[in-house]
Amino acid sequence: MSVTLQLNNLHKRFGGLVAVKDVSFTLSPGEVVGLLGPNGSGKTTVMNMISGALPCDGGRVTVGAKDITRMKPHRVAKHGVARTFQLVRPLPTLTVGENVMLSLAFGHKRYWGRQARDLAEEKLAFVGLEGRGDEEVSNLNYIDQKRMEMARALASEPEILLLDEWLAGLNPSELKIGIDLVRHLQGQGMTVLLVEHIMEAVRALCSRCIVMRTGEVIADGPSEEVLSQPAVIKAYLGD
Ligand code: ADP
Repeated sequence: MSVTLQLNNLHKRFGGLVAVKDVSFTLSPGEVVGLLGPNGSGKTTVMNMISGALPCDGGRVTVGAKDITRMKPHRVAKHGVARTFQLVRPLPTLTVGENVMLSLAFGHKRYWGRQARDLAEEKLAFVGLEGRGDEEVSNLNYIDQKRMEMARALASEPEILLLDEWLAGLNPSELKIGIDLVRHLQGQGMTVLLVEHIMEAVRALCSRCIVMRTGEVIADGPSEEVLSQPAVIKAYLGD
């Protein structure tokens, strides 16, 4: 795992509203970075522009030497960037394993048939759903849905993972499981951009935090320094 994710002056407008304004930052390989900020500060819009779900109005996103700025989500996935969604959105008529296999068809390499089944099983085992590929998605409880969502993201064999409030809604013991899973990925060298409101998770996982407020980056640095800055505290409390 060795690619850098770089955002240069990313810009997004919705009508008259500037949702993201000249956002620039770089994630080095293996970094786990928190992207924080109050509701409406532009975090999800940034994630959507990186993953190709939303076109940007200006700026550039590069992965290694490759410009992925205008790419559609399936092509972004092929360049090693995957994401989870805030709301788990499984295809309910497919089994757990089929949901994961569907993502396999969009990764760096395409897998079909037996190979796809084996790889899906490997990803399910990694997230703690070993042997549960044939279950109906509707059987899964909340943490298991989150696990499946993670397995789907990992199926494209990403080097960079965008987690959009993936830990939200978990109870304390589930949260610990979720944090451990991200730690495990971190141990494997995964680069992670974590949009998260749960500060316990941010402190446990992120050595660096980037804070946004009304579309702009207002702080970027080591977590302890950033999270104690008066401007950051004020942004969270509102002014
Ligand atoms: P965050 O993820 O930090 O809560 P968002 O990126 O969701 O913030 O939103 C940033 C701003 O852009 C907000 O003011 C929001 O209302 C606005 N916004 C987001 N998506 C759209 C959209 N599709 N159309 C219009 N406005 C949007």
